[in-house]
Order: sequence, then structure tokens, then C-alpha cells
Amino acid sequence: MTVDTKKETYLNFVNGSWTASTSGEVMPSLNPANNDDIVGYVQMSTKEEIDDAATAAKEAQKSWKKLSGNDRGGFLYKAADILESRLEEIAECMTREMGKTFPEAKGETARGVAILRYYAGEGLRKEGDVIPSTDSSALMFTSRVPLGVVGVITPWNFPVAIPIWKMAPALIYGNSVVIKPAQETAVTCAKVIECFEEAGFPAGVVNMVTGSGSVIGPALTENPNVNAITFTGSNGVGKVIGQGCLARGAKYQLEMGGKNPVIVAADCDIDLAVDATISGAFRSTGQKCTATSRVIIEEAVYETFKEKLLKKTAEITVGDGLKEGIWMGPSASENQLNTVLHYIEKGKEEGATLLAGGNRLKGEGFDSGYFVEPTIFENVTSEMTIAQEEIFGPVIALIQVNNLKDALHIANDVDFGLCASIFTSNIQNMLSFIEDMEAGLIRVNSESAGVELQAPFGGMKQSSSHSREQGEAAKEFFTSIKTIFVK
Ligand code: NAP
Repeated sequence: MTVDTKKETYLNFVNGSWTASTSGEVMPSLNPANNDDIVGYVQMSTKEEIDDAATAAKEAQKSWKKLSGNDRGGFLYKAADILESRLEEIAECMTREMGKTFPEAKGETARGVAILRYYAGEGLRKEGDVIPSTDSSALMFTSRVPLGVVGVITPWNFPVAIPIWKMAPALIYGNSVVIKPAQETAVTCAKVIECFEEAGFPAGVVNMVTGSGSVIGPALTENPNVNAITFTGSNGVGKVIGQGCLARGAKYQLEMGGKNPVIVAADCDIDLAVDATISGAFRSTGQKCTATSRVIIEEAVYETFKEKLLKKTAEITVGDGLKEGIWMGPSASENQLNTVLHYIEKGKEEGATLLAGGNRLKGEGFDSGYFVEPTIFENVTSEMTIAQEEIFGPVIALIQVNNLKDALHIANDVDFGLCASIFTSNIQNMLSFIEDMEAGLIRVNSESAGVELQAPFGGMKQSSSHSREQGEAAKEFFTSIKTIFVK
């Protein structure tokens, strides 16, 4: 391909050096708000580059794991400070690469800084337990040990936070990493890796190889030097990775999609529920695994809720997320836009009523980007495709129900179980929802999206392989337990 030499070309980071792929091929990373804007070029790597990175990571891990947790934490603290000093630059790159608004991108980058500091501190936490033996002359205890080399495969929707919430715990517990970021946001990831480089991590402890998921993804998941894979992305890819890891006995963690419901009870604060629905459904252009996609409303408040929701949705400003006053950016890629438009057509075909939006935005400021209107359907039934499949765009389905028992039944009537919220002022309604809702993240009187970094994060059913990320829970995945008996 012809490369615009004025744009920067980003290299792989292997064994402490920035290197070009031997394929000689690069791919442009485009701004989804304006395709004429090339953010940079990234390497289209080969299997050999993954092999080199895994070999370097294996060698480097031998001495990395010998450092004290406190010393490993020191590198994470440094990376946090460097990322913080580059926050605006990296957030701007994120907005240009995947479209979320600049304030959202700054918030995400700040979250990355906080995660690094959180896990830096984890280096001083206990590593095991003493367990009473039935033999009074013996000492029995457990010790947490690293897994070895961890392969990290990430999506484009949180290009700073997700790589960091996987790499930081992997590193603090003594593993080395090879990350393969999503193609759409590989430049943003390269900038994060630059922060790790500047923090002085020993060569080979942190490696990044960019390229096509279908080529270098399997090269990473099948590499015998890679002891574990942590993946976030779609269900289809996750299942393939899980099967591959199972076949060769590698540990794996899959965090995948959602079809997240919000239940609006007749006794709730309607204005709160409306604001939370708008934010949960349309922030980040609906491209969050935790985004609200179904709103299940008791009939007594259906019309009031709908009217207020439509009024607020009409106020949403769509455009280039780098511009002041823009609330919702574009879909992250042409592919993503086409998926969203496909589901909108599907909703119409299957008999749902389009209440708002439904179109690609055209005209000045929109023509060279992938903008779609915030979209609301009503008269949606639970078996419709738009009520079952993850759309990953700014589209919600309103479903009217007679009572909360029906609401809960519909909320659970999907293959996914990532997160769910209820809006109610009744404690009994809250407790029933907490007990019977099949989701890993339960939210009461709060939007479906969002979880604090120190709390376990992950889903049930087909949303996850059932391990948890974030907080202390991450230790379960990134370490193994040795039980030691001394006599
Ligand atoms: P995706 O298409 O599954 O891609 C995710 C990553 O997997 C990318 O780096 C991709 O590379 C790579 N990949 C593709 N094929 C592969 C293969 N055969 N082997 C190994 N890796 C492969 O997902 P996405 O479109 O980037 O992200 C959106 C999805 O992520 C949604 O379903 C969303 O719900 C989910 N998500 C879940 C969470 C959560 O925590 N539960 C959080 C965020 C997002 P390429 O970029 O080269 O294709």
C-alpha cells in the first residue's frame, strides 16, 4: 500500500525494541469521524513476530518473577505517572482512532492511570495462607505463583483501560505479557506501550505485536510458550480462543458481549431512569459491553417514560468527538456502522416500531464519517433479533410489561448475562431483582454501564468464561496456587 510519509508508522515492541514486521506491510488507522484523517500506520505482523515476542517474554519472565512485588510495583507506578503526563495526547489519539468523545477518552485514560496505581499497590499484599495441618509437627501453607507468559487480546472499545486492566495485574503477579490489540486502535495501544517502555520495564517483560486477528490471534493463542490468554471481545472469537486453549491446556479468560436490560418499575424516579437509560445506551455510541440495549418498562409508567426519553434523546448532539459540545461520536468503523444499520433494518422487518433515529447521518460534518442517529424501537418482543443479539451501537428496544415478574423473566430471556439494572423505590423489588437476575453486575437505581476498578467485573452465561477481572479478583486468574507441606 502507498504510505503517506507525513504520518507516523508505529512498530511492534518486542524484547525491548521497536521493530518493523518482516511482512513489510502496514495498515492505516483511520479516524471514524473523518476518513481523510489517517491517525498512523501499524504493522501487519506475521506468526514469526508473535513467536519472537513469546520467546522473549518467556526468557524475561524468569528474572521478572524473582523481583519482589514491591519492586515490580515500582515499574507500574512509573508507568502510571508517565501515562498521566501524556493523558491529553493519548486521549486525543483515542478519540481520533475510535470516535468516543474527548471527555470520555480523558476519563478512560485517567482510569488507566488509576488501575496502574491500584495494581502497583497489590505488590505488597499477602501471597498465601497458612492452613492448619492435622499433623501438629507440620507446616502447611499456600503460595501464589505467576502463570508465566500471558497473551493479551483486546477489543477497540476501551483501547487504554482494557489493555491496562489486563496487563497491570498480569505484571504485578510476576507474569510477562504479549499484547495483540484490536487493529482499529493499535496506535493508541502503541502509545500506552511507550509509557511502559519509558517506565523502564526490563526487555521482554512487555511486548506488543499488531496485525490481523485472524492471523496473529491464533499464532498467540496456540503458541506453546504462552501459558495463558486473557481475551475481551466478541462471543464468536472468544469461543474459538477458549477451545484452542482448552485443547493445549492453557489457562484462559474470556470477557465477551452483553444484551443488558434496564427494568423501569412503576414506583421509580422516572427522571433518574430516563437519564440513566440515555447515558447507558448512547454514551460511547452504545459501544460498551455494559451498554443498555433493552428497556423493560411497567405499563403504568410506559407512556410517561417514553415521552421523556424521546425528548432527551432529541437533545443529543452527534458529531466529531474532538469538537466542543458533542455528546455522541461516530461508530468506530465502517464495519461497525454497517452492523448497526443491519440491525436497524432487521428490527423494522420483524415488526418493531421505529420511534426515533434509525438513519446514518449525512451532510456537512458527517459525510466522511460513520455517524448514526441514536435509535429507539418500541413494540419489541423478546424473541425479536434486536432483543436477543448484541448490536454494539446506539440502539435500544423498549419492551412494555404488565408487572415486574414478567419484566424479570424477559430480562433473563437472553443468552448473555453481563449486567442489568433496575429502577425502583421498593426494597422488595430490589431484593427480588438482586436474587433472580442472571448477570455478573447488578445495578440498582444506576445505569447499566460502569463498575469501579476495585470491584470484580465479569458476566454470567455466554458473556464470560466466568472468571472475574479487576480488583483483587484478578489475582485468581493471573496466578496459580501452590500448596506446600513442610515436616
Ligand atoms: P472481536 O472482533 O472479537 O475482536 C477482539 C480481539 O480479538 C481483537 O484484537 C481481534 O483482532 C482479535 N481476534 C479476532 N479474531 C481472532 C482469532 N481468530 N483469534 C484470536 N484473536 C482474534 O471484538 P471487537 O469487535 O474488537 O469488540 C467488541 C466486542 O467486545 C463486543 O462483543 C463487546 O461486548 C465485547 N466487549 C466485552 C467486554 C467485557 O468486558 N465483557 C468489554 C469490552 C468489549 P482484530 O482487531 O485484528 O480483528
